[in-house]
Amino acid sequence: MATKDKDRTPVAQILVTQCTKCKLPLTHMVVLHNSEGIVERVQCRTCGSEHKYYPDKKKTARKPAKKTRAASKNRKPDAASVFEKLAGKLEDKKAVSYTMQGSYQPDDVINHKTFGKGFVTEVSYQKMEVAFADASRMLVCDR
Ligand SMILES: [Zn+2]
Repeated sequence: MATKDKDRTPVAQILVTQCTKCKLPLTHMVVLHNSEGIVERVQCRTCGSEHKYYPDKKKTARKPAKKTRAASKNRKPDAASVFEKLAGKLEDKKAVSYTMQGSYQPDDVINHKTFGKGFVTEVSYQKMEVAFADASRMLVCDR
């Protein structure tokens, strides 16, 4: 392993490195050296947390996250735009709490414990389709 000069910063001295908690390059105090006199543990002067010293790397790991976020965005605009349209159309309607026993009709506004506000788009025998902000879901009713 190649070692850089700054890895040998003396104990109790300050160096700048990525804080694992703050997720920012911040000043850290050297806490411990390993047997070769290389910095091993540092303490963040901002949050006070002590962690291993990682000589500046770890930046490549972030790129894939952006891709998955974009991909999930592409899957959702449908549900979101349906929800928004209905929200505009039904904004004066009062939401009722959803229960399996309740009976509903299209354009009813419901409040679901888990999924939040939703708009009934279709009702068939003992089930209905409800548009929530993130997706459309089938719920039971009239039970
Ligand atoms: Zn920190």
